[in-house]
Amino acid sequence: MKIQYLGTAAAEGFPAVFCNCAHCRAARADLVRERRTRSQALIDGKLLIDFPPDTYLHALAFGIDLSAVRALLVTHSHTDHFYAQEFVNRGYKFAREMKEPLLELYGNAEVRAVFEEGTRRELREDVAQGLRFHTVSSFSAFSAAGYDVLALPAAHTPKEDALLYAVTREGRTLLYMNDTGLPREEFYTFLAERGVRADLVSMDCTQADGEPSSSGRHMGFAENEVVREKLVKYGIVKADTKYYVTHFSHSNAPFRDRIREAARARGFIAAYDGLTVEF
Ligand SMILES: [Zn+2]
Ligand SMILES: [Zn+2]
Ligand SMILES: [Zn+2]
Repeated sequence: MKIQYLGTAAAEGFPAVFCNCAHCRAARADLVRERRTRSQALIDGKLLIDFPPDTYLHALAFGIDLSAVRALLVTHSHTDHFYAQEFVNRGYKFAREMKEPLLELYGNAEVRAVFEEGTRRELREDVAQGLRFHTVSSFSAFSAAGYDVLALPAAHTPKEDALLYAVTREGRTLLYMNDTGLPREEFYTFLAERGVRADLVSMDCTQADGEPSSSGRHMGFAENEVVREKLVKYGIVKADTKYYVTHFSHSNAPFRDRIREAARARGFIAAYDGLTVEF
């Protein structure tokens, strides 16, 4: 399995969209190296996780054929994870010779509501034919584009059933944990009962080594260490499992070198835009 991190910032981006703080000013001085766009990951070129407003930029920056994507897993409805309006361009005279005529979208009921609101004005009937939305909820299992998927509850917002995903194919498993604070115990027991053993764990690290999230909606290195301990305790990981961290906020100075070293000191690998990992 191959994961490509297309974006690795929190909602505001880095440098942040409207911000002139010292971190963002320094990032603007070396954008090629320091910029982080809104979080998104691509699995084997055909399964996308999340669809931020920066998706089009990701396709340009990394030479991705978005028409070849067969399925999209959406974690939750927040703007940095789901820009529904873009789908009106997937067909008709706006998209010809697409590799995959049908895109299957998976998301919770709130994501579906955002999809319907966001496409209501401009979605043509013939474009709608190429988009199939499946409403999914936590503690469910389904298959998407040939991958076995488990949807798990995030600790992120009381307003919707925000999801984390375990994605398995040919004996390799990715555990994708965005956006979330410390998961509840049921997260671990559900995975353990199903015999999941992750090869790569990707974790929300919005807070990095800054102040912990006051709302408990995100994690930093300290919480990432707790998650790793729990995954080991429940037997959900292997001895050689790799732990990646992503979704960094501008407030916590997510400069490439600084974050790489801070992560490495704790046994984690810091993702950056464009990072590709085969596992
Ligand atoms: Zn987010
Ligand atoms: Zn800033
Ligand atoms: Zn969020």
